Amino acid sequence: MKPKIDAAVAGVLESSRYIMGTPVAELEQQLADYAGVKYCISCGNGTDALQLALMAWDIGPGDLVFVSDFSFFASAEVIALVGATPVFVDVDADTFNMDAAALERAVKQAKREGKGKPKAVISVDLFGQPADYAAIRPLCEKYGLKLLEDAAQGFGGRIGSQKAGSFGDIAATSFFPSKPLGCYGDGGAVFTDHDECVEIVKSLRVHGKSPSDKYDNIRIGINSRLDSLQAAILQVKLQAFRDYELEQVNSVADTYSALLKDAVKIPKIKSGFYSSWAQYTIMLESQIQRDSLQRYLKEQGIPAMIFYPKPLHKQKAFENLPQARCPVTEELCGRVLSLPMHPYLREDTVEQIAKIIIQYIGKMKK
Ligand SMILES: *Cc1c(COP(=O)(O)O)cnc(C)c1O
Repeated sequence: MKPKIDAAVAGVLESSRYIMGTPVAELEQQLADYAGVKYCISCGNGTDALQLALMAWDIGPGDLVFVSDFSFFASAEVIALVGATPVFVDVDADTFNMDAAALERAVKQAKREGKGKPKAVISVDLFGQPADYAAIRPLCEKYGLKLLEDAAQGFGGRIGSQKAGSFGDIAATSFFPSKPLGCYGDGGAVFTDHDECVEIVKSLRVHGKSPSDKYDNIRIGINSRLDSLQAAILQVKLQAFRDYELEQVNSVADTYSALLKDAVKIPKIKSGFYSSWAQYTIMLESQIQRDSLQRYLKEQGIPAMIFYPKPLHKQKAFENLPQARCPVTEELCGRVLSLPMHPYLREDTVEQIAKIIIQYIGKMKK
């Protein structure tokens, strides 16, 4: 992609419109079309995208927001950042995504306790697979909760033909370099079909400005725009993502799964679901086996990472919240391991990684 990306970067430098240049508006349209939603509003990063959604809904002190316990810190951080209280919800052991039954239990318990007002759910499309929206969406409707889809890792995933970014009342994604669609720095976007949210999010991302005048500030906002340079790079990368990268990364996943299925617990994609494989995450039998495999792979020059070593509710930053019970997440944190994963991983490399894992597991068992 180098010649195309160089040309895209040169174009922005030529225009000297570094903030809100033409590529930003063009990219927003392309992303909205791709996700199948009416509006895309780009911003500075995925964390801001989540925060902008909560701000647009006026969520703050006294409000409760339910969030997957097994995720990157930002999914819950934004809740506390706007002054609301995160309520951690356990996940499904197979998909790693929010367990709808656990969500309903948490909502009922919160209503019984009456310590805050249940307002919204942040469901995470972890590792590239969309959450179970057929189960989560009806619960949001039943209990009058807004649904915020954290599609930071899910962009490109789908359920049937419906794409990630379209499942929430608002969805947020990230273009951090390691995400399925990454830029060359920080970047993010908000997606929605709701007309009433668009103007508010656009205003919030530029200091709460009025629609017509940048120096007329009608609410408290933040400063969170996507750079023209990043937008221009993303336009080129979105094309490749659409044309072949997503397909290639799925073929890498298929190869891993075919080779590893008898040696370890391979990731499970629900029937009718399609993942964008932000991570390819296996499960080992115990923490001892997982940690020793990770060490061994590192010695062999194969980077394998633990996403995530700690449930969100165990993070020190949340130590003042009431103790949550999320046994599945706790179990997963001790046993998951994410293998090297990207669309350009060659088949022989995948075979080599799989062979090393199978041999090592076999040796450990003896
Ligand atoms: C990466 C990530 C974010 C935050 O995105 P940034 O662009 O790094 O701010 C939020 N949620 C999840 C699930 C993520 O993986």
